[in-house]
Amino acid sequence: ADRDGPRIRHVDYAAPLDVPVRARATLERDLRTGIDEGQFRVVYQPIVALDGVRLDAGGVPAMVEALVRWEHPGRGPVPPADFIPVAESTGLIVPLGRWILEQTCRQAVTWHHAHGAAAPRMSVNVSARQLQEADFAADVDRVLTATGLAPQRLTVEITETATLHPSCVQSVHALRALGVRISLDDFGTGHSSLSTLQTCPVDEIKLDRAFTGTCTAPDDRTVAAAVIQMARALRIAAVAEGIETEAQAQRLRELGYPHGQGYHFARPQPPERIDALLATGHLVRAE
Ligand code: C2E
Ligand code: MG
Ligand code: MG
Ligand code: MG
Repeated sequence: ADRDGPRIRHVDYAAPLDVPVRARATLERDLRTGIDEGQFRVVYQPIVALDGVRLDAGGVPAMVEALVRWEHPGRGPVPPADFIPVAESTGLIVPLGRWILEQTCRQAVTWHHAHGAAAPRMSVNVSARQLQEADFAADVDRVLTATGLAPQRLTVEITETATLHPSCVQSVHALRALGVRISLDDFGTGHSSLSTLQTCPVDEIKLDRAFTGTCTAPDDRTVAAAVIQMARALRIAAVAEGIETEAQAQRLRELGYPHGQGYHFARPQPPERIDALLATGHLVRAE
């Protein structure tokens, strides 16, 4: 029998090439322990309307993106870029992702009850490996019912990799049928971002921060400009990621991006800080 046990099906995603086998095995073991012992938490990065919202002056975010954090008892904080690929290739992203979804939906309901219309919609990253599970959408439906979160208040962020798998696209259709929004993350970095939009319906795209970084080039012929025109033509919402300067925010606003996120506005925050922001309209700086 598979030593991963019967619940974890094997898929053939490539392992990151730079992580030696032994280190991966250790990380896999530590991930299992970490999931069992609750070493993970979720932080939330504000996504703001670009037309003038100021988180330091009474503004509140329209949405927040949930980002997982792992505090390893020995190594300290391990970045998602280091452990998510291992969680994906081992299938551990399935139980971890389920925990993240429950956690974030519960949080979204708590904020909605406490702050009403000022509460942000919740955006959650979901791996292709999770979407491949035939019952993924049914699982999401159960979590929505159990927590009482309206499906319209949840956005699932997928990557282009997911849209290459028919089973993932099926899950996307099932999620949309529930009323959950779908966002295509890191837009523009894949091999065929445009054809992705043909095969997989999405409600939103997130401009990859590589193109936010180049959006202030002196002429109009930037990827950021082309992407917003395309999004408007297709009636897809757009969020610009990785905004680090006021000049970038200004340019993206001029180009017509309705929403943005990035260190310029706020870093990912522990939930208590989002609470304080919603209650006072002021983000306490620091993380
Ligand atoms: P992503 O979904 O594209 O998330 C955005 C990443 O950019 C986050 O990194 C965020 O902290 C970072 N970021 C935000 N604003 C800025 C900025 O202005 N400048 C720069 N340089 N970076 C910015 P993080 O939290 O390290 O996550 C990295 C990736 O790991 C995510 O990229 C996502 O693909 C994955 N990930 C994180 N949390 C989860 C999760 O809960 N589930 C899954 N499946 N994947 C996750
Ligand atoms: Mg994301
Ligand atoms: Mg992204
Ligand atoms: Mg990314």
